[in-house]
Amino acid sequence: MSGRHYDVLIVGAGSMGMSAGYYLAREGVRTLLIDAFDPPHESGSHHGEPRLIRHAYTGGPVYIELALAADRLWQELEAAAEEKLLERSGVLNMADPALRAFDRRIADAEAAGVMIEHLSAAEVGRRWPGIRLPDDYEGMYEPDAGYLYSERCVAAYKRLALAEGAELLSHTPVIRLEATGAGVAAHTHQGAYYADRLIVTAGAWFPALEPFVSLPIRPVRKTVGWFASREPLFEAGQFPGFTLASELGGFYGFPSIAGAGVKIGRHDGGLPWEPGQEVKPFGSQPEDEGDLRRALDAYMPLAAGKLNRGAVCKYELTPDRDFIIDRHPAYPHVWLAGGFSGHGFKFASVVGRLLADWIVRDDPGFDVRMFSASRFAAIRNG
Ligand SMILES: Cc1cc2nc3c(=O)[nH]c(=O)nc-3n(C[C@H](O)[C@H](O)[C@H](O)COP(=O)(O)OP(=O)(O)OC[C@H]3O[C@@H](n4cnc5c(N)ncnc54)[C@H](O)[C@@H]3O)c2cc1C
Repeated sequence: MSGRHYDVLIVGAGSMGMSAGYYLAREGVRTLLIDAFDPPHESGSHHGEPRLIRHAYTGGPVYIELALAADRLWQELEAAAEEKLLERSGVLNMADPALRAFDRRIADAEAAGVMIEHLSAAEVGRRWPGIRLPDDYEGMYEPDAGYLYSERCVAAYKRLALAEGAELLSHTPVIRLEATGAGVAAHTHQGAYYADRLIVTAGAWFPALEPFVSLPIRPVRKTVGWFASREPLFEAGQFPGFTLASELGGFYGFPSIAGAGVKIGRHDGGLPWEPGQEVKPFGSQPEDEGDLRRALDAYMPLAAGKLNRGAVCKYELTPDRDFIIDRHPAYPHVWLAGGFSGHGFKFASVVGRLLADWIVRDDPGFDVRMFSASRFAAIRNG
């Protein structure tokens, strides 16, 4: 058993776990990361880069505070890793006002010092001639927002965590977790690993860790596509990242990076998926391409060229789409971070950091009460 006992075990070394591993190792904490794959990998939620990072958030000031802190940490990571991880392309949010109003979001953002431009549909069309919105749609543009190369970010955290002394067991699924008195044990096919504390950052596989962890997290299969688009209208450097709340659904996307074509994904909907099930490849459902193409045809017709590439990824949804970042309700030496509901990547830097601070300093440094696991029990109990 000696040599297998650590200060902290991290189960799930993806977006959140790898970041936590780095910040813990940097504090001199003996940390073992365990992952079923070899991150970054194509089976979880972080592949098919990039990922949007925006700061003008709905959901309250805590999200904005976290997004701004996350941004600072991504810049630090870029400097430490000596590679480009974040592009400040600007992000344009577009909405049918009957579905989404921007007023509250703009007020919260401006109060936090986030720069925002409120645009009419005509102004959006003049500025980005590739976009055609119905006259009554509105735009909210955040010039300092952009996108992150998510796989590169996970790879950078991995490299730096290992350099700081963290250990990583790849291709090692944890089949069972156990609280052992004041400690924890993670059981794998190669045997058990022990630690004083545990972080569970298992993404779409949380349901497989029941009954040790029981959270209302529902994984769904999501698809994204890259479509040939008219250059230079949609090129990176000219065209922003975007979100779109429309009568055809909720979408998000990115400019054409290095000729890959505009990337677009649908935020709502998606097929349920359970750990252990096969993930049906892109194109196996007609809506995989159909939903995305319909949105491009309607709002960016010059970006609706041939499908260059499609990918399948996973969201892990909570009932209210807010995250779960909390101590385990039964075991105070176990931390849970999951249910990132399709909008978590931008926060991976700060989530890793706050978990490390919570463990090392007994203080996450942010008011994370809105992310408590117990809020769902409160909903159920009325
Ligand atoms: C198509 C798509 C687009 C997205 N776009 C955006 C965006 O624009 N902006 C944004 O902010 N967010 C976005 N997201 C969401 C974001 O990518 C996720 O919220 C984030 O990656 C979740 O991180 P995670 O650490 O929870 O999961 P992951 O990164 O998947 O990590 C979980 C890890 O746990 C490991 N694991 C699980 N169970 C076990 C076990 N039993 N034993 C060992 N290892 C285990 C897995 O192998 C995996 O590596 C998007 C997601 C998708 C799918």
